[in-house]
Amino acid sequence: MNRRAWAEPYKIKMVEPLRMTTRADRELAIARAGFNTFLLRSRDVYIDLLTDSGTNAMSDRQWAGLMLGDEAYAGSANFFHFESVVRRCYGYRHVIPTHQGRGAEHILSQMCIKDGDVVPGNMYFTTTKFHQELAGGRFVDVIVDEAHDPMSEFPFKGNVDLDKLKKLIDEVGADKIPYLSLETNVNMAGGQPCSLENIHDTCALCHRHGIKVFLDATRAAENCFFIREREAGQQDRPLAEILRDICSYADGCTVSAKKDGLVNIGGFLALNDDELADEARNLCVVYEGLHTYGGLAGRDLEAMAIGLQESLDYDHIRARIGQVQYLGRRLMNAGVPVVHPIGGHGVFIDAGAFLDHLPREQFPAQSLASAIYLDSGVRSMERGGVSAGRNPKTGKNVHPRLELVRLTLPRRVYTQAHLDVTAESIMAVFEQRKEVVGLRFTYEPKRMRFFQARFEPVEGTSVMRDTTDVHEPVLSPHD
Ligand SMILES: *Cc1c(COP(=O)(O)O)cnc(C)c1O
Repeated sequence: MNRRAWAEPYKIKMVEPLRMTTRADRELAIARAGFNTFLLRSRDVYIDLLTDSGTNAMSDRQWAGLMLGDEAYAGSANFFHFESVVRRCYGYRHVIPTHQGRGAEHILSQMCIKDGDVVPGNMYFTTTKFHQELAGGRFVDVIVDEAHDPMSEFPFKGNVDLDKLKKLIDEVGADKIPYLSLETNVNMAGGQPCSLENIHDTCALCHRHGIKVFLDATRAAENCFFIREREAGQQDRPLAEILRDICSYADGCTVSAKKDGLVNIGGFLALNDDELADEARNLCVVYEGLHTYGGLAGRDLEAMAIGLQESLDYDHIRARIGQVQYLGRRLMNAGVPVVHPIGGHGVFIDAGAFLDHLPREQFPAQSLASAIYLDSGVRSMERGGVSAGRNPKTGKNVHPRLELVRLTLPRRVYTQAHLDVTAESIMAVFEQRKEVVGLRFTYEPKRMRFFQARFEPVEGTSVMRDTTDVHEPVLSPHD
């Protein structure tokens, strides 16, 4: 079927010029960064697909909202606007702002989790799991098996496996499970959604056993879009209505507004229980700031109030996820191995298959991220062996099943032409993939090593062997 041309539903009224670099510039920059894209300076990056967290472009209305910041210490007008938006969109009575998502996770975990408790969830997220463990809990993964299979086309890879959950409740007892943590559009699974039916059934099962459910609704807007696209009976429903349904099944939510919420900083905890809300406000004062600002400036609360509403606009989300799907499809059509189906916030390249001449000990995903940067200045992120770290008992490198490079799209920041440059760069590296050289550590930090690790090529000085026809990427979309 012929598809008519499509364009982003916004126009540009302020620009941030990008510095164009030569291959020689990039050769120097990536070597200086120890072949780790986290250590690149942003001025050396042309198209930055490192993360979609806090990298959103705000709208003119949000920028105007910044000027309305009421910076009173207590009872800022922006707080009451923000509170009314969250109440209306998410449906919970109590709203506690936090500086970002992990602030809300911290408060929730400290309130609800006791030493020896078990907290089931649909795949872990780094900060969520960390705070559960800090409070004395143990995380147990109850996501469906399809989530771990990169080639499975299952449309709701974020779903909870109800049998796994029942088995866990039988094993440890409901009284050991304070709540289930239910993540919408599961980040670590590649931005994969849960169905409305599964969210409903999961919450019903938990409530029958007296177990609460807290959503990680950080990516709920994207999840609502997939529900509308894929779930029977959900077509043509406003996203806001689907979100209200999702939230109505659960007891509350934590949110990092740096993702779907279209701001650069901010988050919140929302819930219905009066007693828990009192305690949450109390902990907020200790860790974040007074409960009417939660570590944020009044202007940040205003930008968040506006961004949260914009995030539920159908045309916005369709364009946002449409960009991700567009990039994914271009790569798939060129035979580049990527995780299926393409998710909500990024495209995940299977670096193990892409660079099948490199042993896992030479970190194919780390090498590939460096090679892509070298080719075009596109910055991506390793999500494989380097991120997985070492087994704390044996000291050996963990080689996870998925050795991935993640291309994450900031919201409303890049045009389709930027995505074409990205796709063509990756296709160019794919054509020369046998020339990509593996890496070894020159510096390995003890914790979260992927952020600060440094590497060198196992042969020569570059991550790409010299080829005779080294050329600059073609940057014009018009030829
Ligand atoms: C980013 C993220 C968080 C943590 O939020 P921060 O704002 O980075 O603290 C929690 N859950 C999910 C699903 C996320 O993507």
